[in-house]
Amino acid sequence: MEFTDKVALVTGGSRGIGRETCLELARLGAAVAVNYTRGADAAEGVAKEIEDAGGRAVTLQADVGNEDEATALIDAVVKQLGRIDILVNNAGITRDALIVRMKKSDWDEVLQVNLTGAFNCLQAAAKKMMKQRSGVIVNVSSIVGVIGNAGQANYSAAKAGLIGLTKTVAKELASRNIRVNGVAPGFITTEMTESLAENIKEKIVEQIPMGRFGSSEEVAKVIAWLASDGSAYITGQTILIDGGLGM
Ligand code: NAP
Repeated sequence: MEFTDKVALVTGGSRGIGRETCLELARLGAAVAVNYTRGADAAEGVAKEIEDAGGRAVTLQADVGNEDEATALIDAVVKQLGRIDILVNNAGITRDALIVRMKKSDWDEVLQVNLTGAFNCLQAAAKKMMKQRSGVIVNVSSIVGVIGNAGQANYSAAKAGLIGLTKTVAKELASRNIRVNGVAPGFITTEMTESLAENIKEKIVEQIPMGRFGSSEEVAKVIAWLASDGSAYITGQTILIDGGLGM
């Protein structure tokens, strides 16, 4: 299998896109660390599904936005699973409001988790990967970081920041045999988009050339491909997985 003897960490691996990414990487042979903040039961459920299928998984609680917790998370992956080959920076939150009403605390929180969280994990993991002289990092951005979205100034700024972070770190780490790429999903059916009003969802679907929301599985498969040797000559890219929305 593609990821036999590889170790992967998926931040925010307990639900949605992160959950499917954990399952996909495990199906392809990776030992998987499932990170979460609050949902211990959900994370345990992912790990159990992997173990029941004959794979190896651990659950690790950490707020990636907290530098000490993120560093301890990477250390724990290496301690418990032996190394770290694949890092998927997937953890993310939304705190939506129009710009004139957006609370500074909501701006700060979204930047802290979605952008600084990725920086924290990436920096700690890169140090381990540089010693190993190999590694792959996939950052989960968003179409909103590319085209913007009313009501999501904090989220789009963080997600656009991830695209720049991906390019820069890709340049820095390429000579160390570490690739850094990203995905920018469009509207994907998860708990994050569940709360959207039906009329808003209908309006969004009208704008998507493929005429539907995407699934977590469809995103997970691209993440797994970017983590695999199938994409061996690709670095610094962020791939839109959006049914054509961002064209
Ligand atoms: P989701 O269903 O809301 O799941 C979010 C995951 O992130 C959960 O596992 C959650 O764990 C974890 N998390 C939240 N804050 C965290 C923190 N501080 N530290 C560690 N983990 C944390 O979200 P999703 O829709 O799957 O989205 C996953 C990623 O894709 C996010 O980065 C999101 O921005 C991006 N994305 C989603 C869409 C979409 O349409 N759904 C589109 C584009 C991009 P707990 O439950 O334990 O808190």
